[in-house]
Amino acid sequence: MRSCLALPKVSFILRAYPPSHIQRTAAEFDRAIRCTLETIVGGPVSHWSWLKASLRCSHGGLNLRSALRHSPAAFLASTSVTKSLVLQILASPPAPSPHITPTVSRLATETARPYWKCLDDIDVPLRQKCLSHVVDEACFQQLLDSAPTCRSRALALSSSLPHAGDWLNIIPSTTLGLHLHDREFRCCLRYWLGVPLHSSSYPCPECHLTADAYGDHQVGCGGNRDRIARHNAVRDAIYAAAQSAALAPSKETPGLLPGSQARPGDIFVPCWSLGRPTAFDVLVISPLQELTIAQAAQTPGHALQVGVQRKLAANLSACRSSGTDFVPLVAETLGGLAEDTIRTITIISRAIENRCGTSDSTPTTSHLFGRVAIALWRGNASLWLHRLPIIPPSLDGVA
Ligand SMILES: [Zn+2]
Repeated sequence: MRSCLALPKVSFILRAYPPSHIQRTAAEFDRAIRCTLETIVGGPVSHWSWLKASLRCSHGGLNLRSALRHSPAAFLASTSVTKSLVLQILASPPAPSPHITPTVSRLATETARPYWKCLDDIDVPLRQKCLSHVVDEACFQQLLDSAPTCRSRALALSSSLPHAGDWLNIIPSTTLGLHLHDREFRCCLRYWLGVPLHSSSYPCPECHLTADAYGDHQVGCGGNRDRIARHNAVRDAIYAAAQSAALAPSKETPGLLPGSQARPGDIFVPCWSLGRPTAFDVLVISPLQELTIAQAAQTPGHALQVGVQRKLAANLSACRSSGTDFVPLVAETLGGLAEDTIRTITIISRAIENRCGTSDSTPTTSHLFGRVAIALWRGNASLWLHRLPIIPPSLDGVA
């Protein structure tokens, strides 16, 4: 949808016509895209969630960029890039376009840069990528400023963390296990956009605590083994990659701490950085849980830091005293990854590429990040789908 049906479909029109001439068309196009999104999501999408969807995936959106909002950037960039070609074609320089100044003014409004009065005032390269980037940045700030609740703001910040949007960039392949089923995808999409999964809260069928409409309880519920299954799926994705990289990993290795049965690492690699044995421990943490949500709404990645500190406090000292390094691999339920997690996955990807004898590690790296992301989101979806409200017999006609 975002690649074939959204903004790319109207790029030529946006570049060729002044925004004032296509305002209605662009608005109608945006409405059609929003309607399509609502069909996929399975219900209405609020203005805030629609604004979020219109951001790039790296900003926590769906890359369904607004034609109306990006039309000034497209027109100005196109005019600038084609200027020399127009001069070559025409016998004499054309008269200045009367549409430039009003379009600059519209762009200044969209990007909250009132000091942009004419083309010369624009202090970024007049390329669509650069101008659209400024529009996206302004949209993201608008999203934060207009967040209706603390949860919304925390959601916006957490979904814009590094690699949070990876699950949306992977090519869905059933053969490779890189896909989500329709119901899974719909749940994930709602959680990502801040659209309620249910009309109201209800008793969680697994633990009998209150399951909220947005799915925040469910995604961290320990009422059955779904949460462990999500953890294991993420662990297994990294473990399998370490095997492919010939790092001789082992899972849940006992005996790392002398005299103890504790297993501080989910994955043990006997020869990691500087040849040292290293234990890796996976943790998935929700930034939208009561413990972290207030700070997560202020500090991006706060929950990741809480998770890292928790793991280090539990295991670092004991591991070091036995001559083993310890690396926590922490991910948020919205997909954001801690620095050590990113570094570890990148190193494993490069090791795989070195083993295969290729120099370009980009496809392998992005593939592995995508694989970890799909494992995480599929695990989230299981938690939501296994905790759907039980309809009372009086309502479903059984009684
Ligand atoms: Zn529960």
